Amino acid sequence: MLAVQLTAWGAEPELREIPLPRPRGEELLIQVAAAGLCRSDLHVMDAAAGSFDYPLPLTLGHEVAGTVVEAGPAADHDWIGEQVVVHGIWGCGGCRNCLRGRENYCLRLRPRDGRGAPIGNGLGYPGGLAEAVLVPAARFLVRSAGVDPVHCAPLADAGLTAYHAVREHRDLIDAQSVCLVIGVGGLGHFALQILRAFGAGQIVAVDTRAEAREMARRLGADAVFEDAAAAAGALGEGADLILDFAGAPSTVAPAAAALAPGGRLSVVGSAGGRITAGKDVGLAAGWGISAPFWGPRADLAAVVEMARRGALHVTAQTYPLTAAVEVYRQLRSGGITGRAVLVPPP
Ligand code: ZN
Ligand code: ZN
Repeated sequence: MLAVQLTAWGAEPELREIPLPRPRGEELLIQVAAAGLCRSDLHVMDAAAGSFDYPLPLTLGHEVAGTVVEAGPAADHDWIGEQVVVHGIWGCGGCRNCLRGRENYCLRLRPRDGRGAPIGNGLGYPGGLAEAVLVPAARFLVRSAGVDPVHCAPLADAGLTAYHAVREHRDLIDAQSVCLVIGVGGLGHFALQILRAFGAGQIVAVDTRAEAREMARRLGADAVFEDAAAAAGALGEGADLILDFAGAPSTVAPAAAALAPGGRLSVVGSAGGRITAGKDVGLAAGWGISAPFWGPRADLAAVVEMARRGALHVTAQTYPLTAAVEVYRQLRSGGITGRAVLVPPP
């Protein structure tokens, strides 16, 4: 089968022909219908050797939708034929966080010897930028019948991460609330819609790109700004919830300064922004800061359900799997609006 593989650290991936895997034990084989590209793939391919505890060659792709076509001897064969999306965080299932339904904070997935631990498909284990992918067990699947796989794939990371970041702060979201979304890309465009669905009163969006600001308006932002500092200046009494999908030096500090009393800043992006935290650093009383990572399976099921009932519009551009290397270049240069989704040959 065709697969997009990273064969050397610090290099572009390659399109390669590799053997079709066969499921053993509880494994399930998914015929991939669509797989999304993510900026964290760029982070992985740019990494120096030794940064990640991932064996090479590694098939990339952690936003994967498809159909279960084969089950290992110990797997539940009822899954065969099901349309699914893969939950990309392969937690241990037994630690206290997994037992709490917080698999995204599985205690076994923490870095080892300073090196990133394998997390799931495309991130340490063979991923879905291929014609098929193996999943270790059915607990890493969410049924997705009724959702176009091209729209479903980006939900696995971009949709789930945005949903989780918003849902964690649901207690702050009501008809009165003022919410600020910084960065209207793959994740931010979902966050706007999820905030709207949760009943947020006022939503302000920030993006440096004119086409992203246009998209934000279409998705229901009440006001749009080119930079975080300008948005902060226009917020008046401050924001109850700020979601920073950039996490850059130009966004994190102005965002923190724009919090209303009791407000919270969720730093989702990781572009090097820094903030000094303390009780006496001039932030509004009762401030809170979180740095969420991806999301648990239950949130993936919830975001898929939103898409199924038409409450979530996915902005995706599709390309053939064979164009992967070129599409990664476009992603790097900022030439993708919404999410880039690759489709394997029929
Ligand atoms: Zn990702
Ligand atoms: Zn665990």
